[in-house]
Amino acid sequence: MPRKIFVTTALPYANGPFHIGHIMEYIQADIWVRFQRMQGHELFFVGADDAHGAPIMLKAESEGITPQQLVARIAADRPRYLKGFHIGFDHWWSTDSPENTELSQEIYRRLKAAGLIYQKSVEQFFDAVKGMFLPDRYIKGECPVCHSKDQNGDSCEVCGSVYAPTDLINPYSTLSGSKPELRSSEHFFFRLSDPRCVGFLKEWLSTPQRLQPSVANKAREWLSGSGEQALSDWDISRDAPYFGIPIPDAPGKYFYVWLDAPIGYLASLKSYFEAGGPRTRGERRSFEEFLGAPDTEQVHFIGKDIIYFHTLFWPAMLKFAGAPFRIPDHVYVHGFITVSGEKMSKSRGTGISPLRYLDVGMNAEWLRYYIAAKLNGNVEDIDFNPEDFTLRVNSDLVGKYVNIASRAAAFISRQFGGTLRYAGDTAALAEEARTLAATVAECYAAREFGRAIREVMAYADRINQGFDARQPWVLAKDPARAAELQDVCSRALYGFKVLSVLLAPVLPQVASRVARELLGLDADFRWADALVLPTQIRPYKHLMTRVEAKQLDALFDAPAAPAAAAVPKPAAAKPATAAAEVISIDEFKRIDLRVARIAAAEFVPGSDKLLKVTVDLGTETRTVFAGIKGAYTPEQLVGRLTVIVANLAPRKMKVGTSEGMVLAASGEAPGLYLLSPDSGATPGMRIS
Ligand SMILES: [Zn+2]
Repeated sequence: MPRKIFVTTALPYANGPFHIGHIMEYIQADIWVRFQRMQGHELFFVGADDAHGAPIMLKAESEGITPQQLVARIAADRPRYLKGFHIGFDHWWSTDSPENTELSQEIYRRLKAAGLIYQKSVEQFFDAVKGMFLPDRYIKGECPVCHSKDQNGDSCEVCGSVYAPTDLINPYSTLSGSKPELRSSEHFFFRLSDPRCVGFLKEWLSTPQRLQPSVANKAREWLSGSGEQALSDWDISRDAPYFGIPIPDAPGKYFYVWLDAPIGYLASLKSYFEAGGPRTRGERRSFEEFLGAPDTEQVHFIGKDIIYFHTLFWPAMLKFAGAPFRIPDHVYVHGFITVSGEKMSKSRGTGISPLRYLDVGMNAEWLRYYIAAKLNGNVEDIDFNPEDFTLRVNSDLVGKYVNIASRAAAFISRQFGGTLRYAGDTAALAEEARTLAATVAECYAAREFGRAIREVMAYADRINQGFDARQPWVLAKDPARAAELQDVCSRALYGFKVLSVLLAPVLPQVASRVARELLGLDADFRWADALVLPTQIRPYKHLMTRVEAKQLDALFDAPAAPAAAAVPKPAAAKPATAAAEVISIDEFKRIDLRVARIAAAEFVPGSDKLLKVTVDLGTETRTVFAGIKGAYTPEQLVGRLTVIVANLAPRKMKVGTSEGMVLAASGEAPGLYLLSPDSGATPGMRIS
């Protein structure tokens, strides 16, 4: 029986563009969705912008536009990213929508009827300078649990605790910098501490396979906390002015953005159903009928920073709102993505810009493959390392995978008119594919994508070895051995087809081209296609290029290497021989030029201009990044003497700090020439 699965990713806050962390999560969920569909299951994959809350209200205010205009501007940019990275959401919606207003107010009414909502007057921080109650995020201070400084008003990024802003030690308003004052205000609370909620959540958290063990453990810890860390009820209201959904029968009160954000998953699905999307795929039921059906599954992909909301509040809200709302079947949590070991920061916007990645012409499937190769089913951070990225793409995808097709297809097209023929028994061939496909399927289902990739690439190695061992280029010279050549190439191309099917969730575009252009099928691959031996191919067209170092340079916006590294290079418009400004002898003497011996030299990952050079000055060694890769290999440099500027201020570069400048000559014609002293000079000698 095909499964019916409703899949979401965490809603991005609509005050800025996607960052690489969003894209990683969408790629993870998209791979899983594509895999399940290839198995014949029915999936509805939806997303939405998280549009409400004070930050969007204040940002819009500062730009002189309405919050709706701000959100619309951000939303208009989303498709470029989603299409660009082949992320196949069925529907993208917004929490600032009629569907979300209706669902949020309905769920609230039901929770109230169940006795889980109560009102109480709370002391809340008020910014007297700004004239408003302060949203949590505009109050900062010391975490009351772990005492980390500068933590937000609602939760701690360091220890993950959730608390009230008034619990912060030494609070301040980030809007005005003033010390906020306490004022009284009537608030609405969700009674999470109610024994019914706690009892339900204990059971929900203990259902086997529902959550990753580490996630369930963390949630159970929160649930059974005591003393300072006891489970608290949830303040779900905010006072006007606020951009959000009005609370029924409570003028001037709005739902806190975190209440209506997850309901946005359902609003997006509802909007998708009402737009008729599911009908085009044979789903005749209404949104309510689909959601309330016993065999529907609800699956959320999220990051580790929002576990609390998705494993405590969210299931409890849904449980006590009642049918057709359903409790989540799975919440799959992933870690963060770092770039060269540095944590991506939302506020500083460092890391890889997804749009820049696409703009500099890098292939989206490289990134999908790289991320897949690094992901597993645990809550672990992954790192984007440019050197590793280049290696995996160039060696695995191009060198091992695509290479099989380009080599074998050439013989089949040229000598056999595109016809494949297998000599002898093919049972072992199909059996190997069957076993592999079953193993890889288990990996994908469990989100062990890294293991799936390792299994697939080990198979690619076996295909390449088998192909090389039979030396088709030798067979091709002997007409008497044509049948043997055809068999070798047919087997290799079958292997390539198996690889393409198994990689299709990760590389949807390449796999689609293999299916339609090379194999002439009229549909994209389904999983079972891995077991079907092809009999005919069309001429092979190039499928994928290699990563080039200059693309990575452009991605990271590396400074112009020669300028930073110190090879004096005249501006293009200016002849090299143009006289420079006259200086005095004293000015010249300020430059400390020294003889240096190059003790070591190495390539710089991701740079096509720089070499990392270690120079010996007799009494000390220095690291210099020099833009001389185009003219010298590291081997040519080690041991030779050269001249460096020793008193140049250290220069921080993307790849490290350069502590000097290696001198080289260059002219209008290509070519770069390192300076050398005459023989007899020794490291450390001064040049004057
Ligand atoms: Zn803390």
